[in-house]
Amino acid sequence: MDLVNIICPKCDYRKSMERQKVPKGITKKICPNCQLGFLLIEELGEQKQ
Ligand SMILES: [Zn+2]
Repeated sequence: MDLVNIICPKCDYRKSMERQKVPKGITKKICPNCQLGFLLIEELGEQKQ
């Protein structure tokens, strides 16, 4: 299964999630930790193409 890291660039909050559980729009999601940053997705060695 593919994993991605959810990262907040403001507070460095991060969490690994299964890709299937990550909505496409998650980059618009406000960080649950600091409420200031927006979560970014870091790809973890997924197999593109
Ligand atoms: Zn944060």
